[in-house]
Amino acid sequence: MNILFSHARILRKAGDAFTLLQDCAVGVQDDRILFVGQPPARFVADRIIDCRGGLLLPGFVNAHTHSPLCLLRGAGEDRRLQPWLEQSVWPFEAKHTHDSCYWGALLNMAESIRCGATCLNDMYIHSDAVAEAAEQSGMRALITPTITDQLLSESPDLFTQVQALAQKYQSNPLIQIGIAPHSIYTCSAQTLRQIAKLCEQSPMPVHVHVSETRQELLNSLARYGGNTPLQVLDKLGLVHNNTLLAHCTHFTEEDSLLAAARDACVVHCPRSNLKLGSGIAPMADMLAHGVRIAIGTDSSASNNNQDILEELRFAALLQKGTQGDPSVLPLSKCFEMVFRAPLAAMGFSDCGMIAAGSQADLIVIDTSEVCWLPDIDPLSNLLYAAHSTHVSLTMVAGKILYENGTYQTIDVDQLRFEVQKIITRFLKE
Ligand SMILES: [Zn+2]
Repeated sequence: MNILFSHARILRKAGDAFTLLQDCAVGVQDDRILFVGQPPARFVADRIIDCRGGLLLPGFVNAHTHSPLCLLRGAGEDRRLQPWLEQSVWPFEAKHTHDSCYWGALLNMAESIRCGATCLNDMYIHSDAVAEAAEQSGMRALITPTITDQLLSESPDLFTQVQALAQKYQSNPLIQIGIAPHSIYTCSAQTLRQIAKLCEQSPMPVHVHVSETRQELLNSLARYGGNTPLQVLDKLGLVHNNTLLAHCTHFTEEDSLLAAARDACVVHCPRSNLKLGSGIAPMADMLAHGVRIAIGTDSSASNNNQDILEELRFAALLQKGTQGDPSVLPLSKCFEMVFRAPLAAMGFSDCGMIAAGSQADLIVIDTSEVCWLPDIDPLSNLLYAAHSTHVSLTMVAGKILYENGTYQTIDVDQLRFEVQKIITRFLKE
């Protein structure tokens, strides 16, 4: 299938800065971008999408979420992380089945696609169901099964299940399988050592919560001889350039230096951290130390949506405000975090840009609403004035998943029915 995006304003990276090119043609052949600029004579488009009045961008990457947890959206409000986990999340998770995780994940993905995300990094149980939902939705995804001591005691063959899942999706270019030690407070050193050993045998991305709360940091210092959660993970060999460190709300300066030295990717989740009263990650300091940073929504149970553009806006405003310096997090730095920063760590290195040969993970933003006027700086408008509902088309690997209100891969009526059925069961049990 050949698709031509015509008369597009596209975002390109030139050095450290993003710039807009006007009136471009971008040709997609099957799963890849074939050309940017004028179409070659031999290119015949099966479909032409006129992008006048819009922006053509790489899709957003959501680098930390727990998809099926969106079934808990709106439940258990106004609690800190630990009581929220213990009283709201964990009792609910005990009721999960393969089926409920599948529909919960698909609900999350429907929302993500609508908000312009083309790729997500998921940590959850029943990961086979989450992977099936990703396949159905057409999204690109890193699926990382959660490991905790508790889960391992319930399913001693959990590691074998992770390996089997990795085997199953080995030849699927849209799905990567990693592993997610939940945190150092739910995984013993012995469990973490086992995970490191497994990763030595079969290298795969590692996805872990780190220093989400001050209490987690303090407990780690007390329990592990003055080591922070990141230092504990690093000593066990789990911090490297395929590691995604979610939250890092209470990172020390040593942590930033260590993360930068290992080229690990920090995933900043500002709204979840605010809502659970966990704090504000010292992102500006991390950036100054050269840490690679991506953005994640965390689950819709603690956020409560999957809107990556809104997340990025919070990230920028919070750092400017708390640092007392509006020059931190300039536009280019912000967009780098949602377009490209986590992709290599997630195992997807050939997407996240509009360039010939790159995977065609693209979104079109409709800029016809009045909040886009005047058209002085469309990038500024995108970050500070636009809404993710202005996304009019979402494409992954050359396949259109959503266009002008219509999903191509998800039956939303069936989704609504199944979600309601599951919630009715959960509330009864
Ligand atoms: Zn999380």
